Amino acid sequence: MRESTGGHLAVVGLGPGDARYLTAEANEALAAAEALYGYGPYLDRVPVRAGQSRHASDNREERIRAAAALRHAALGARVAVVSGGDPGVFAMAAAVCEEIETGPQSWRGLDVVIVPGITAMLAVAAQIGAPLGHDFCALSLSDNLKPWNVIQQRLDAAANAGFVIVFYNPVSRARPWQLASAFERLRRHLPGTAPVIFGRAVGRTEETIEVTSLDVADASAADMATLVIVGSRATRVIARPGRPLVYTPRAATEASA
Ligand code: SAH
Repeated sequence: MRESTGGHLAVVGLGPGDARYLTAEANEALAAAEALYGYGPYLDRVPVRAGQSRHASDNREERIRAAAALRHAALGARVAVVSGGDPGVFAMAAAVCEEIETGPQSWRGLDVVIVPGITAMLAVAAQIGAPLGHDFCALSLSDNLKPWNVIQQRLDAAANAGFVIVFYNPVSRARPWQLASAFERLRRHLPGTAPVIFGRAVGRTEETIEVTSLDVADASAADMATLVIVGSRATRVIARPGRPLVYTPRAATEASA
């Protein structure tokens, strides 16, 4: 049994954008919090409630934010840290765990709950069919926290293993070339016809979804709000009026891998 200090920390996923994608559990956790921590634009999505304090911080300050929220919870408060999408996918839940592992022993006594959210890849996939209908993997293309050669090794392994590949963080102002380089790398392993999906700001009013193929996929079509899905050899595009359906069949054969 953990010795409880009375402090409570919820790490809450807000989903991809629109409030329709916020789960009932996340809504309850947000309503119950005395203090909210998060990246400013994510906090702006949370309705203002009387008596709740707000602590906005910069995008790249995840560990500082996690430590501040833990210190606040350790005073006995009910604190919520918010993430876009799911908090466990390239987001705050891991930053909170890193701080608990390296921080004061007393933080291990806090009541910590992770409240899941709809992650961007599921929101994008749902708009276009079932590209994640069979085995897939997700990579962050940000090399802020890992060297680029690790990303290259993972791209080679994923493409050769027949996975559909999802890219989070495809580009940013500080990382302009990574997505084009990743496409180049994948062209070594995959046919030019492999479908590529760009899903931008999915679940928000400015949402766009585009389907192209690996041979002509243009990295400049992506920005920080874009998620990219690169199909495997097995992924299929069904042309129909309007947006096509892209899907990966549930059964794999040697040839499709
Ligand atoms: N925890 C988040 C991911 C954080 S990493 C989640 O589970 O969705 C940030 C990256 O997520 C962005 O660079 C983009 O690739 C993707 N992303 C987040 N929200 C998105 C949205 N509404 N539409 C498309 N991609 C999104």
